[in-house]
Amino acid sequence: MSIDELVNNVRTGRTRAGSAAVHAADALDAAGRQLGAVLDVNRETLAQRIQTLESRLKAGEELPLAGVPVGIKDNIAVTGERLSCGSRILETHRAPYNAHVIERLIAAGALPVGRLNMDEFAMGSSTENSAFGPCKNPWDTTRTPGGSSGGSAAVVAAGCVPVALGSDTGGSIRQPAAFTGTVGLKPTYGRVSRFGLVAFGSSLDQIGPIARSVADAARIYDVIAGRDQRDATSSAEAVEAALPGLDDSIAGMRIGIPAEYVSDALDPRIKARVDEAARHLEALGAKLVPVSLPHTKYAIPTYYIVATAEASSNLARHDGIHQGVRAKDANDLLACYLKNRGQGLGKEVQRRILLGTFCLSSGYYEAYYDRAMRVRTLLARDFDAAFSQADVLLGATTPTLPFRLGEKTSDPLQMYLADILTASANLAGVPALVVPAGTVLEDNRPLPVGLQLLGPAFSEARLFRAGQAIERAFKGPLTLPAGALA
Ligand code: GLN
Repeated sequence: MSIDELVNNVRTGRTRAGSAAVHAADALDAAGRQLGAVLDVNRETLAQRIQTLESRLKAGEELPLAGVPVGIKDNIAVTGERLSCGSRILETHRAPYNAHVIERLIAAGALPVGRLNMDEFAMGSSTENSAFGPCKNPWDTTRTPGGSSGGSAAVVAAGCVPVALGSDTGGSIRQPAAFTGTVGLKPTYGRVSRFGLVAFGSSLDQIGPIARSVADAARIYDVIAGRDQRDATSSAEAVEAALPGLDDSIAGMRIGIPAEYVSDALDPRIKARVDEAARHLEALGAKLVPVSLPHTKYAIPTYYIVATAEASSNLARHDGIHQGVRAKDANDLLACYLKNRGQGLGKEVQRRILLGTFCLSSGYYEAYYDRAMRVRTLLARDFDAAFSQADVLLGATTPTLPFRLGEKTSDPLQMYLADILTASANLAGVPALVVPAGTVLEDNRPLPVGLQLLGPAFSEARLFRAGQAIERAFKGPLTLPAGALA
């Protein structure tokens, strides 16, 4: 059911306010756990929230998301619930407060349900770096749903929840959305508060929705976007609501096609879908403009310096002392730190902390971090130049279709390259929306293809409008083939 139908059913009294969420909890416990997408479903906190929601509805409150179950990535705080970030070191940690986005969702009548699996501390592109086991793609369970928000994307694709929250530092909402045939938005940096999101790369992190349809993602965006004084980088710019203009014409819209996002290095089937979508938009009156983002080839090295530098600082707080799991056999303070972090943090997280610490260390700072920051400026200027010619950009999200579980786990560099077309948006701070463009057959099974729309800062409403046109052109949201999960 779409969010609209769900809310209408509650509003008209056809269904009880909590029934969709209880259904979702059951589905998360069954199909969701089978996929390795679910870390926890807390029925007690859900029951309490349903009670509160019922009394608010009885009191006559008009709630735009009344009774909508929302799955939550395990790095976004929900009071009293698990907040492990897919890490051993936080396995026992419970959130003491709600993230800003959770406050907003609850105020709008939504019901957070389920803690969703993720790469440890959001570091990864396959959800295989979770301390609690890998997550599978519901389209083909031998393949990855992408990462790091793989759990969020998998449960939306599997139909357990209509929508889930993810976080995106270098592609972690968009790559999983592309791999699972769902819609995912990485908002403009500063558009959605990071308060209550466990920090990875603070200058890159954004929270956003993963949903079945463009309209559902827009509804969630409209609720979570906006100023919050508890995030110093939250923007005061007025929010243009995405839903009201969603179906407006895109005639006259200039669609830039960045050469680097349709290059021959991509899977040709993905490139063909970009071309097909572009022709659809052209038929609707949009103008296609070839553009270039010439520094794209530096996005990966730049991202992996900036992100690891910030992570090495942010993750210093996870010492197993203030919160989380403490090793039992340490007999002095230093041993305690070393053991807690040595045992509590996984291999990829340790690699990133070491990389980031190295890039920031004296003698190397200028050669790595400082240079990466200069290239970051060049990447942002690429976008400025492209947006002087185009209103939005259209291209691929990933160079490949969803790859197999285990395929890239022994080669971190190959895994990093999965983000080649997504990391630039985080480095430049611009918004990007992923929309499915049908499926292609691989080994006789349909696998989804997701296209990426990028826009200038604060152009989310425009991205949703273009996304809606693409969704229509490809005949509505994708549905998993019957029996896919049997
Ligand atoms: N896959 C990228 C990484 O491993 C991006 C992760 C993310 O966006 N959180 O860092």
